[in-house]
Amino acid sequence: MEILEDTMETEITDKMNWDELTFSITPTRSMYVATSNMGEEWQRGDLVPYGNLSLSPAAGVLNYGQGVFEGMKAFHTIKDRVVIFRPDMNAKRMYNSAERLCMPAVPKELFLHAVEDVVRDNEDYIPPVGKGSLYIRPLLLGSGAVLGVKPAPSYTFLIYVSPVGPYFKSDIKPLYLKITKYFHRAAPKGTGNAKAIGNYASSLYPQKLAKERGYDEVIYLNAANENNVEEVGSANLFVFKGNVLKTPRLCGSILPGVTRNSVIYLCENEFGITVEEGDLTVNEVLNADEVFCTGTAVVVTPIGKIDTDDGRSQIQDGEMGPLTKKLRSKILAIQREECDDPYGWVYPLL
Ligand SMILES: *Cc1c(COP(=O)(O)O)cnc(C)c1O
Repeated sequence: MEILEDTMETEITDKMNWDELTFSITPTRSMYVATSNMGEEWQRGDLVPYGNLSLSPAAGVLNYGQGVFEGMKAFHTIKDRVVIFRPDMNAKRMYNSAERLCMPAVPKELFLHAVEDVVRDNEDYIPPVGKGSLYIRPLLLGSGAVLGVKPAPSYTFLIYVSPVGPYFKSDIKPLYLKITKYFHRAAPKGTGNAKAIGNYASSLYPQKLAKERGYDEVIYLNAANENNVEEVGSANLFVFKGNVLKTPRLCGSILPGVTRNSVIYLCENEFGITVEEGDLTVNEVLNADEVFCTGTAVVVTPIGKIDTDDGRSQIQDGEMGPLTKKLRSKILAIQREECDDPYGWVYPLL
């Protein structure tokens, strides 16, 4: 792919090979940028060519990790529209994340306007139906200069987009995961329930070790009680046994996923499955009928094999289980408008 020197835009989108998309960055036409000083109201920002930022070396985000992000997707649908999945949930979550990191939160209306603006301007980068999606990455950064440990004096709200394919090499091949007892992702009363950029820096080393040993990712334990599991690197965890679906309750160190919320809602309201949010033990995970993880990037992805330090558990003979398959298909169908959307989850843009 050709990168233009001045704008960094990927040159000709009709040369994009939609069949070979992976979960990686493809520069697009434009990004959205707004700035605000601490204590001032956010004003609408502008679309600018996708490209590098200029930042003070003393920016709060560079020195003290004052930054939060979001992740969502825009889809071409079979109704020939462009839709986003439940963006109001992302707006709300970014608001909460911002408050936890002492950043001026972006109002929901402004957030949604910004997402609309940047997706519309990059429409030609949205893959055709079923070929992938346009990943939308909102960022809120402490961009003003600060020396002592305190909130930055000014902030940048930015959204960039990139066409993407599946997050893992194969979308449907069940994952091979390791339950780690050497690292925690988040601590009680820490920032695990905020999409704070620093949470992800600390997950890179455990992820690297796991990948070196042949695993796809790690499952983290609860830092206060290591009998209980919390979530996968950047996806929420579910187990199905009998007719009960169970997932860890949102105890403060778990990220409240939009996909997690959607899966719970579908199971309770459409599939007649009992959902329990509570303590989920390692034993329950190892002995489940089905185990899967959820997230915007991974949708619903089956987990087929799980190792602990002491042994291995094979789930569903390493195949995708029926509920996992049903949930995955249902969410993809809603996103592509192949079925009704009685819950008003899709937000049409174009
Ligand atoms: C983003 C994220 C998820 C998934 O959230 P979705 O809203 O479903 O995309 C789960 N866990 C962590 C740690 C995350 O960062």
